[in-house]
Amino acid sequence: MEQWIEQLRKERDLPDEILIRLIARQGTDDVLFQAADAVRREHYGTDVFLRGLIEFTNICRNDCYYCGIRKSNRNTERYRLTEDEILACCDNGYAMGFRTFVLQGGEDPHNTDAVLCSIVDRIKTRFPDCAVTLSVGERSRSSYQALFDAGTDRYLLRHETATDAHYRKLHPTELHLENRKRCLYDLKEIGFQVGAGFMVGSPGQTERELVADLRFLQQLQPDMIGIGPFIPHHETPFAAERPGTLELTLRMLAILRLMFPYVLLPATTALGTISPIGRELGLKAGANVMMPNLTPNHARKQYDLYDNKICMDEEAGKCKLCQENRVRAVGYCVVCDRGDVRR
Ligand code: SAM
Repeated sequence: MEQWIEQLRKERDLPDEILIRLIARQGTDDVLFQAADAVRREHYGTDVFLRGLIEFTNICRNDCYYCGIRKSNRNTERYRLTEDEILACCDNGYAMGFRTFVLQGGEDPHNTDAVLCSIVDRIKTRFPDCAVTLSVGERSRSSYQALFDAGTDRYLLRHETATDAHYRKLHPTELHLENRKRCLYDLKEIGFQVGAGFMVGSPGQTERELVADLRFLQQLQPDMIGIGPFIPHHETPFAAERPGTLELTLRMLAILRLMFPYVLLPATTALGTISPIGRELGLKAGANVMMPNLTPNHARKQYDLYDNKICMDEEAGKCKLCQENRVRAVGYCVVCDRGDVRR
């Protein structure tokens, strides 16, 4: 096993069958984590970048089987922050030292290009030294171009899974993997810093799907890779499914760091939800980004993608302090800048 980890570090790749064995192995992952941490330190030192997350709408036209804000969930109260409320979150975040704002939401039909461009333009005008990341799902190429022209720096769109058969198990028939991939290539060609990613342990996922995810990411060469464990939500068709594990998520983070040394890799809220020290362990396995929540408390509780999501009623200042302390406790250092990718 150790020689494969060394080979992965040096060549950033392994044959499929070896990757499968590495992903499926039982036992301690210390050597893997140490190798990933060394590579992360070569590229980013001990820096951890904070992103101020603003979950600005939970209204969604899609019906993804795993997601708590899917349109068929009639038992969640829907909300949409106004432009002024979003700006107030940024004011608050800027004063706390954030230099990246991530606006994430469901595919809310209200969010036309004009609406989103106006929000981005106001944020970039008020905070020219900040990066704006959007994560608002699948759109046309011309729409992405308009968002880019308005000043959006980055775009997060997890591909969710790279194989058609598995994509079908997770999504209703109107959604297509081909379109999701088209969006990612459009975003890249337009010039965004692009983030893709997937849930770990989603229903129907095996090591083969995970290797296909790695192969897709090798083709796309994204700047950011967002992964976190799948966690069931009680109002979805996957309510009774098993969650993804801490062990597998950490192993995938470390493998990603070795294959994509430069990548921005968050220790996600979902990772912190399945284990109280999940994000700290994620940092030690190669992650270098954390995303404290700037969403106002009244809305935050309604952005319930999965059950028992953490930080649901924590005020933004406390959330940031808590995450800074977690970063420091495991020997890394929060830096107050945009945190662009270092290729
Ligand atoms: N609508 C945008 C999109 O499709 O990219 C952004 C919002 S979407 C809710 C953000 C991410 O949440 C998804 O890409 C998915 O991977 C993750 N997510 C949704 N339901 C989840 C669950 N039950 N467990 C873990 N992650 C989940």
